[in-house]
Order: sequence, then C-alpha cells, then structure tokens
Amino acid sequence: MKTKKPNAELVWKQIEDMLAPRLRLSITDRVVYSHLVRHSRLEGQLSLRFSIPWLSRSVGLCSNSTRWAVRRLISRGLLRLAQCSKAGHVIEVLLPEEILAAGADKADGANRTAVSAPPSFLPAFYSQGEDFLKTAALRKSIHARERGRCFYCLRRLTPQARCLDHVVPQSEFGGNSHWNLVSCCLQCNSQKGERSALDFFRRLYRERRLSDAELAERLRALDTLAAGRLRPLRAAQANSLPHKARRPRLLPTAS
Ligand SMILES: [Zn+2]
Repeated sequence: MKTKKPNAELVWKQIEDMLAPRLRLSITDRVVYSHLVRHSRLEGQLSLRFSIPWLSRSVGLCSNSTRWAVRRLISRGLLRLAQCSKAGHVIEVLLPEEILAAGADKADGANRTAVSAPPSFLPAFYSQGEDFLKTAALRKSIHARERGRCFYCLRRLTPQARCLDHVVPQSEFGGNSHWNLVSCCLQCNSQKGERSALDFFRRLYRERRLSDAELAERLRALDTLAAGRLRPLRAAQANSLPHKARRPRLLPTAS
C-alpha cells in the first residue's frame, strides 16, 4: 500500500534523537530497523516483503542476529508482522512518530528502568502473561520443563543449585511469563547477566561447555521458547514423568 513519503531528514533525526535512546535500541536493532525504514516508508510503502537471508546480507549481519533483531523489533512494536511464510515475511514498518505516539502518554515521565511498569507500547511478549515467579508451584513448573538440566549449559541440576533466569533481561523489559523464564545453574545465571541468550550460548560454545550438536539443539530450543511453544510442566504432568532424569526435550504444542 502506497503512503505519502515522509521527510527523511526528520525521520532520521527522530530515530537518532528519540526512538533509539527512549527504547534503548541496540546497534543491531538500529541497523535493521533503519534498513527496513529505508526500503519501505522512505519509498512510500507501508509494508515490505523480505527474507531473512536478503536482510542479513544487506545489513552485514549473520542470519541468526538478523532474525532475532526482527523479532525484537516486532515485539517492541516498531514492526508489525502481517504475514510469515516460507516465501518470506511481510511486515509493516512504523515510523518513529507513530511508535512514540502510541506509547507517549505512559512513557513520558515514567521511570525507564522500572520493570514493574513497562511502557504500554511494549507488547505482551515482553511485559504481560501469567507471572511465573508468583508462586512456588509456577516456579517449579519451569524447572520441571527443563527436566533437571540447565537450559544454557545442560549441566544436571539439583533443587539446591538451580534458579530461574530471564532470557530477555528485566532491564530490557523481559517479563516473568513462561516464555521468558528458564531453569538454569547458578553459574550460568551469574555469567549470562545482561547478555542476550544468543551471545551467551556462543560463549559456552567457545569455552567448550557445549558441543556443536548441543549448541545447535540449544538454539532450536531458544527459538521454540521465543515462539511460546516450550510450555511449563504443571504438577500433574511433571509427576507423570519417569524418575530417571532425561536430556531436555522440546515440547512443541499446537498454539
Ligand atoms: Zn548452566
């Protein structure tokens, strides 16, 4: 759909001066967003059909980093996913003034680091959903889902040496829903810190704490988690598991 071409100078200034600092966009997200704006709205098009390989080649990033950047931009409301298929993605690209207007009322004057009050323009992926830190039973259901292994390094865990970790850090508005919490060892929890899960998996691989195959499997698990298809194991389900601990296994569901 054709739209009026915006003032490119104004758009660029709004990205640099307002959008990036207010949403604390990473360099990767800025590059990907700017490139998509360039090829959609600055050409008078509201939406854009593209593939991850095309986008990653264009911005000089690997396909995994590009895919995650697109996901973050969608989840933060800078892009709207209109279609996703093997042929590629169709996204609507929002301009800075549209994004900021959507969240201006509550964002202005808000404490930008307050996890309990994320800006309203952050979507449910980051800020809503059932709070799985709220009760012991809910926390246990996340531990049960990982079946006694650290989500990151696959080390066997004991109840005394495990904790829950936010995959998207709370400082980046990662929420307490089941798709953002994983069971992990204390060492991984401490070492991951504010890093992205992707970066942390790479570190584990470089340190030879994950093999080639384990890294590939963990990245698939991360994708499945991000898609909301790695569900917590509630008490009844957990009790039906055999006592002998097993390697974590993905549990894709229909939704
Ligand atoms: Zn670990």
